[in-house]
Amino acid sequence: MVTHFYDAIIIGAGASGLMCALTAGQRGRKVLLLDHSDQIGRKILISGGGRCNFTNRNVGPENYLSANPHFCKSALKRFTQWDFIAMMEKHGIRYHERAHGELFCNDTARDILKMLMTECDEAGITTLNSCKIRAISGEQPFQLNTSKGAFSTESLVIATGGLSFPKLGYSGFGHAIAKQFGMAIVPLKAGLVPFMFSDQYKEIFEALSGLALEVTLSTEEQSFTENILFTHRGLSGPAVLQLSNYWQPGDSITINLLPHHDLARQLLSDKEQHPKRELNSTLTSLLAKKLVLALEPLFWPNESGKPMAEIPDSVLFKIAAHLHNWRVKPSGTEGYRTAEVTVGGVDTQQLSSKTMQSTTQPGLYFIGEVIDVTGQLGGFNFQWAWSSGYAAGQYV
Ligand SMILES: Cc1cc2nc3c(=O)[nH]c(=O)nc-3n(C[C@H](O)[C@H](O)[C@H](O)COP(=O)(O)OP(=O)(O)OC[C@H]3O[C@@H](n4cnc5c(N)ncnc54)[C@H](O)[C@@H]3O)c2cc1C
Repeated sequence: MVTHFYDAIIIGAGASGLMCALTAGQRGRKVLLLDHSDQIGRKILISGGGRCNFTNRNVGPENYLSANPHFCKSALKRFTQWDFIAMMEKHGIRYHERAHGELFCNDTARDILKMLMTECDEAGITTLNSCKIRAISGEQPFQLNTSKGAFSTESLVIATGGLSFPKLGYSGFGHAIAKQFGMAIVPLKAGLVPFMFSDQYKEIFEALSGLALEVTLSTEEQSFTENILFTHRGLSGPAVLQLSNYWQPGDSITINLLPHHDLARQLLSDKEQHPKRELNSTLTSLLAKKLVLALEPLFWPNESGKPMAEIPDSVLFKIAAHLHNWRVKPSGTEGYRTAEVTVGGVDTQQLSSKTMQSTTQPGLYFIGEVIDVTGQLGGFNFQWAWSSGYAAGQYV
């Protein structure tokens, strides 16, 4: 069988692989971009509800989780959110800003995929989709045996993403290749994913399904003030997805249902001003009625129907403390099926932060989500894909 040689072969034509390919192609490198899927860039297309939250106005290392928090700094500095925005503007793609600096396409995520593919075409990249990688052998040059022929290269880039959304064909391919070459993997778990409950709260949350409200959601180490959404399975919404990256099985989480209020003070003042009013009436001026009714049997079963004047201050203090500090324990997360990302991945201790090249296996590169760098919700994961793809594309 004839073996075709390329300066660089990139496995995975998603966000990071496309960026790496176009960057290397623009440097005049002969690049082959391979993907097992019949459609490249599928995650770009489904992201951000079809509008792709492609980056964030404010990107910094503090938006990323990694066993080595410094690793992402160099790549993020060398290809910033402004560089990606400049590319969008060059292609006339219109975008808008939402809360927390999140940037979305005005029209459709397809515009971004089209832009990356156009840049790849102009840079002379050869792309093969529906290409199954059967085996990788050798080392510099690496030999690839695939369903579309035999290929060889000095620079092999793994851009196959994480484990989330297995229905789109995601698997542990990139992690298996890292292991094949003796590299370590930081333990994997589903990230940016809803919580599930199996205790008394399963039923309570089910009854509240569809209700959304702004809370502060915390573990011991992290806190996010954003919306949560009660669902049939448990809790979802931006605050939950954010916290799930930091949550460990067995951890409790606390929900501050009124993060912008001093509830104890408010209850005492309401007691003075409206002594005949019932506690539930006071609370429903702050929280949805069905939430108040669901919380009543948990936190003030004996005060039900009583006027405020009859409720001792000490009891009002306790109720306020419960609502500011509601502790619940998820039984788990919904897992990779609905997770937006995979936390953990190829250990950054064995990668150059400048080039993304393995420090133990010359010529082998890892980019994007397969690495142990996970962004928070808000466009940070795509920015990591662009930045790490660019970093490797400069060197392959
Ligand atoms: C529903 C959803 C919505 C999201 N929304 C956002 C968002 O709005 N903003 C944001 O920043 N992030 C978002 N993300 C996360 C973001 O999509 C990923 O972090 C990002 O795509 C990772 O880029 P990547 O290049 O590492 O991997 P991917 O983009 O996942 O690309 C990997 C590519 O490798 C290919 N591949 C996998 N295995 C093999 C194999 N064995 N052989 C050959 N090819 C293979 C795949 O087909 C795919 O094309 C979302 C994720 C999901 C699931």
